[in-house]
Amino acid sequence: MVVLVLLLVAQTALGGGPLTVGGPSNGTPGQAFVWNPAAMPIQYRVDVGPMSTTPGGQVVVTNGSGLQRVQAMFGNWQQSPHAAVQYQYAGPILLPTGTPAPDIATLSQYNTVLGPCQQGTESPIIFDDNGGIIAALGLPPDIIGFASPCKLDTQTGYIDSAFALLNGQFQDGVNVYPNFELSADQFDEAITHELGHFTGLAHSQINDSILNMGYPCPVDQLAGLPLMFPFLACQSRKEAGLPILAPDDQAWLAKLYPAQDFNASYGTIKGVIFFSDGQSPVQGANVIARSTTQPVQVAVSVVSGYRFTGNPGQSITGDNIGGSAYGSRDATLIGYYEIPVPPGTYTVEVESIDSSFQGGSGLGPLDPPIPLPGQHEFWNSEESAFEDPTASDPVTVNGGQTVDQINIILNGTQPRFDQFEDPGAWVTMPEVLREREDRKPGVAA
Ligand SMILES: [Zn+2]
Repeated sequence: MVVLVLLLVAQTALGGGPLTVGGPSNGTPGQAFVWNPAAMPIQYRVDVGPMSTTPGGQVVVTNGSGLQRVQAMFGNWQQSPHAAVQYQYAGPILLPTGTPAPDIATLSQYNTVLGPCQQGTESPIIFDDNGGIIAALGLPPDIIGFASPCKLDTQTGYIDSAFALLNGQFQDGVNVYPNFELSADQFDEAITHELGHFTGLAHSQINDSILNMGYPCPVDQLAGLPLMFPFLACQSRKEAGLPILAPDDQAWLAKLYPAQDFNASYGTIKGVIFFSDGQSPVQGANVIARSTTQPVQVAVSVVSGYRFTGNPGQSITGDNIGGSAYGSRDATLIGYYEIPVPPGTYTVEVESIDSSFQGGSGLGPLDPPIPLPGQHEFWNSEESAFEDPTASDPVTVNGGQTVDQINIILNGTQPRFDQFEDPGAWVTMPEVLREREDRKPGVAA
């Protein structure tokens, strides 16, 4: 059976790396919002109710078992190499009064405990044991869970609090559409994905063709598929004998939370994606660096322009003057990408973001994503708008090294719009010339 379920994030994804990027008066423009590295461990609190119950109310996964599983899910991120992120269970979820909350089972209780989260004082993990909260929120029942930062500190650029909700219907032993029963490993990996959002990571797209390869997924493809891929479409990584985090997940976690050995353990490939004119930068293209020795298994990606805003605003209609609160307005970041990679040799390629990755399942600065204006293409040393798009040259990166100017010029994109415009000069030129004549010394104005 193919399991194809939405992994929703309750906040617009801006990254393809970081989930939220600072903007004007909102953190540091162009920099990812992360938890304060000087305030580790991140303290989270957990619902005291069961993790899963049957529709009849019988407990299937107890609170104690659910708590252990949540701790193990956080542990997947905490144990990731070259990253310095830590988490700690701080006890039961607290009410705004400071007293422990009962089992969070109703929409009203959910809203009550989101209050302290939005104030930045606690980070709750909520067991929606029978899917009742998801239903009351009007969300589709095929959501395994969702998570998001709650409060972002606009001064410091840090995440102050976050939350996650787990849909226990996928563990209730009732295998009925649309709540397919997931294996415990599949469910825990889906929630570990949510805890990636909790931590500040966005979705990533690598080995997207896996969606058309049938179930179970080929293991070599699954190895390179990020846990932060927007859909759950495969058997669990653990069941396939793979580490829970793919190379892309590990690289971006380490990039956002660098441990002391990060610089020695990762290098960087960066550049800009251009239209065929070689001048106009392309926003929203998925850029992937793939190991030349294990191209399917070892790959790291980002979306071009991920640090630039998806909505710069405009003053014409009066309803969007400032644009998005997120993302830099620094025009040099349009079309710019950087990818942290383990030392090695890589090819670099661009592709379209999957058109089904929108809203809560989206990635990159543009929502909905735009199709790549040119064709899928590799970088090579002879980049132009006319070279063979399948030709690639290797890029070798050592630890601590940044390889810059890996710029890709797309083939066959439409000319820039302004090439068709009336240059205007013919209208204004005589006036300009006259003005200049008038200013010649000795000529009366
Ligand atoms: Zn997600």
